[in-house]
Amino acid sequence: MNTPIYKIEDKKNRIYIKRDDLFPYSFGGNKARKGMLFFKNIIYKKSDYVVTYGSSSSNHVRIISNKCAELKIPCLIISPLEADKQTYNKKMYDLFGAKVIFTKLDNVSKKIDETLNDLKNKGYYPYFIQGGGHGNIGTQAYVDCYKEIKEYEKNKNLNFDYIFHASGTGTTQAGLVCGSIINNDNNKIIGISIARMNPRGRNIVLKSVKDYLKERNINISDEIIEKKVIFTDKYINGGYGKYNQKIIETIKNAMINYGIPMDTTYVGKAFTGMFSYIGDNEIKDKNILFIHTGGTPLFFDDLEELYE
Ligand SMILES: *Cc1c(COP(=O)(O)O)cnc(C)c1O
Repeated sequence: MNTPIYKIEDKKNRIYIKRDDLFPYSFGGNKARKGMLFFKNIIYKKSDYVVTYGSSSSNHVRIISNKCAELKIPCLIISPLEADKQTYNKKMYDLFGAKVIFTKLDNVSKKIDETLNDLKNKGYYPYFIQGGGHGNIGTQAYVDCYKEIKEYEKNKNLNFDYIFHASGTGTTQAGLVCGSIINNDNNKIIGISIARMNPRGRNIVLKSVKDYLKERNINISDEIIEKKVIFTDKYINGGYGKYNQKIIETIKNAMINYGIPMDTTYVGKAFTGMFSYIGDNEIKDKNILFIHTGGTPLFFDDLEELYE
């Protein structure tokens, strides 16, 4: 089921948007695309308990806890105490009956190990999903997304020069980059960091790309991979979840003029960052694709901020 791609108004370039926020499961988004692949693996492995990590605003946790409820598999969330707040995503994972264990941020990995061991000792076969659906399965989801983009290009007889998107854990970007490398395409995939700084942010994308290609036995030179991973930390605006008036204006504009909801943490920030990048690099007359990675419930968390 391909998500829609269509053109939006722009004076300098031909800008298209891919609506992964409309991925058809639980308010969609990249976490839904990744989550569906994780559940294939969970079912294949006959796991009877799912453990994952995420904050109270996590889109990933919403998806995982929803699917667990549907499949009647118990779901346990390890969540950082520091980031606990009331959000629509949190209300939903309460609705889905997920059990949440709060722990201090610096204790997270220990808590995960303890929890998994405890479940095994009780006779369960727990399945652990990294925060945000990180890992080769998550990467695969965006290799698949890249195939959809290729199909669109073929049907419309065009090639995207640039693909922009919000980059967080880097999994989405890794998948797109792998897709592009495998197809020998010479487009530029620009991850707009929403939190992580370089070199760390970029290095995590690089590692994800290499891990995926290695697992699939695909031999690509480091030189090609290095060239292909463009991760900019220029538009972070102070860190995860931090936003400014410009981002608010972008979100209002996208909703009013296109009817497209965006949030302040990911998509609104990245969409704003994309236009800054286009300006900063004097990009014109190009075919540009922006991937809307979702987060629709966060739009409602932010709604009050849009009024003045
Ligand atoms: C998690 C998330 C991202 C970042 O995706 P990564 O694969 O972690 O880089 C972008 N947009 C939205 C809406 C998200 O929930």
